[in-house]
Amino acid sequence: MTDAARPQLAYLTAAMDELKAKGMHFRLRVLDDQQAPVCHYDGKEVINLASNNYLGLANHPRLVEAAIEATRKFGVGSGAVRTIAGTMRIHMELEEKIAVFKNVEACVVFQSGFAANAGTVSAILGKEDFILSDELNHASIIDGARLSRAKIKVFRHKDVDHCEELLKEVQNEPGHKLVITDGVFSMDGDVGPVDKLGMLAEKYGAIMMVDDAHASGVLGRNGRGSVDHFGMHGRVDVQVGTLSKAIGSLGGYVCGSKDLIDYLYHRARPFLFSTSHPPAVAASCMAAFDILEQEPERIERLWANTRYFQGELKRMGFNIGGVNTPATETPITPVILGEGRAAMEMSRELFDQGVMGTGIAFPTVPEGKARIRLIVTSEHTRAQLDRALETLEKAAKKRGLLQ
Ligand SMILES: *Cc1c(COP(=O)(O)O)cnc(C)c1O
Repeated sequence: MTDAARPQLAYLTAAMDELKAKGMHFRLRVLDDQQAPVCHYDGKEVINLASNNYLGLANHPRLVEAAIEATRKFGVGSGAVRTIAGTMRIHMELEEKIAVFKNVEACVVFQSGFAANAGTVSAILGKEDFILSDELNHASIIDGARLSRAKIKVFRHKDVDHCEELLKEVQNEPGHKLVITDGVFSMDGDVGPVDKLGMLAEKYGAIMMVDDAHASGVLGRNGRGSVDHFGMHGRVDVQVGTLSKAIGSLGGYVCGSKDLIDYLYHRARPFLFSTSHPPAVAASCMAAFDILEQEPERIERLWANTRYFQGELKRMGFNIGGVNTPATETPITPVILGEGRAAMEMSRELFDQGVMGTGIAFPTVPEGKARIRLIVTSEHTRAQLDRALETLEKAAKKRGLLQ
């Protein structure tokens, strides 16, 4: 009997059949070349509006060179977890570089942003503690919260008053309290109220934590993130960033006090139980932080492209959020279509017409708020954006989604 025919997992086949019936089943699209503004997926040339390669660093020659050089010098693998034998000098150098860049005492790098969030939240809190979490926070925060076994209180999206109500409910409990928000929310592109939540956390003696996955390299001076954007230096206890999106490589980091980072070295489970980055990854990240300092025009181009693209979409009559959904404030551009099937079919149609945009439906976003999510980068040319806009308009008109 083949694996496929064994009955033990038949329920998974049934679940996938159900997704297929709803038009929600997807096949992975395979990138044939580089993660670039124009590239090939499954052999088809498309304008790529689906990646998080905000600044084009994933294929910047200096990152590529740094990775090759580090590989030649240090090999392809680190050979162990950080706490056993897998801390290479280059890992320490990267952490020091990020700490200086972020203007904090210390930094620890994890294998991914996901590991950074889940590993940190679960390490610093326990059963007696409380987590106050925005309802749209990233899955890695939710998983970390669950793993911590702390009591989880979810506040309405960006609702600082609601967060305060929940803080009041638990203020006399003995446990620690953590207020946590995304710096930029990944599905709507809106910015978390890091300033107001930070001040609220201070008022109640709560720990303040921000997940800057989509803000790293995008918001703040030279892409220093939401804490810099809001002028909240020294007032956010735990800053998470990613190295996988604008930074162009792979990984996540936590910035904070020396003691916080030392504690995570001793207690964060992904740090203790999963092998550290290959030297090439650390080296490419270091090159990326140099570029953030030396080529700020990349971030300027990113924002200029964002303003242009979103302005044109609005002019055409698309709903890009702001009515019954949060309004985007970043390059993340949701084109809201409503029904899941409409979003998935439109995404396929766009692909056939040479535009790659991600169809996103329930349960990733609320029912009735399905969308195509588009992300412009600093590297898209005006001509590419115009071509994408024209394609979007035609496809939407054809489907009666636009007058
Ligand atoms: C992408 C993302 C992460 C995970 O980062 P990776 O480095 O890809 O693991 C965490 N939080 C948010 C908000 C994200 O968008």
